[in-house]
Amino acid sequence: MSTDNSPEYLEELHALLQEFNITSELEWVAVVLFVRNLIRDLSIFTDKRKADLQQEVFAVLGTKDLSAEQYERVVEKIEVFVMHNAATLELETALAEEKRSAAALLGEMNSLINMIRGTQEMQQTSLTKFEDKTVGVIRESEDRSVIVSRVRQMFKELVAEFREETREWESFATELQRTATFDPLLTELYNRRAFDATLISAARTGHDQDPPPTLMMIDVDKFKRVNDEWGHQAGDEVLRTLGRIVNSQAIQYNGFAARYGGEELVVLVHGIDRETANIKAEAIRLDVERHTVPMRREKDAPPTPLSFTVSIGVAQLEPGWGPGDLVRAADKALYRAKENGRNRVVAHWE
Ligand code: GH3
Ligand code: MG
Ligand code: MG
Repeated sequence: MSTDNSPEYLEELHALLQEFNITSELEWVAVVLFVRNLIRDLSIFTDKRKADLQQEVFAVLGTKDLSAEQYERVVEKIEVFVMHNAATLELETALAEEKRSAAALLGEMNSLINMIRGTQEMQQTSLTKFEDKTVGVIRESEDRSVIVSRVRQMFKELVAEFREETREWESFATELQRTATFDPLLTELYNRRAFDATLISAARTGHDQDPPPTLMMIDVDKFKRVNDEWGHQAGDEVLRTLGRIVNSQAIQYNGFAARYGGEELVVLVHGIDRETANIKAEAIRLDVERHTVPMRREKDAPPTPLSFTVSIGVAQLEPGWGPGDLVRAADKALYRAKENGRNRVVAHWE
């Protein structure tokens, strides 16, 4: 706003602007909103603990330093708090999940910050208008204290205007959290939205890779029977078990495990050849086959071990294919696995 040859009063105005720190405050407010919402959604803590954590994080944020390092410190603060309060082993799984969604949400927050940067052009217009008005005030009056008080009043109006905008961002942030990256039932798996984005980028960059990306499509065999015989909640429990098995296999080779829909899961893998892909898919199939889920007919009845199986279709990106072609190929292979008797792996190229 101020330039080297600007009149003295503009220099003063600029200094005043800096004193109020309007631009950085906008971002800071957004971060505060984020932390507040994030903590609110951490279900493993009591309200008292949440309040303590919020206070601590706000203290860190209070420096209004929005550098990348400051972000790291804030995240670290959250993590340390979370770990410190993990009194029991049971909490560990919940914590791992919370940490993962916290990381994902911080990613979302980045786009929110970028959006705010985008609207800064708009705010710049407000600031310019403000500057014009102020110049008028300064021209009309010789009395420094009058100038300052009028300028402060205008600042208040400006801040109120920005606050209104911030409220809109808050609902945007809430929306982001609701549609965050992970599946609500199979909590360690990415959701369809995240998978679609990853698939699109894999199909775009994958043609230059050797070997190209591989997709496994996993479907529970005769899953309707589980629901019919044991009920929908039991079916959900089977799906959760499947989610854990698929995830623990996929993380060993950096696979991107997601819930494609219903009882269909997908794993997207980079850098494995066809033979290895078959071996990895077979490992999932076998792991599922060996697992049992304890089921109870009634609340106090002894548990019955329920076993289930999956069929898996595997495909590898071929020249000229887009994301849809890769999914269709894996789906076709899955269909063949079902036709050939289920509980098996079929590769599209076979
Ligand atoms: P197939 O071996 O041919 O795959 O047989 P299937 O019974 O698994 O058949 P299909 O894939 O068509 O049916 C899937 C069933 O999965 C239908 C639906 O009721 C059930 N389902 C989908 N999503 C969920 C869920 O989130 N929870 C539960 N419990 N059931 C689900
Ligand atoms: Mg299905
Ligand atoms: Mg099925």
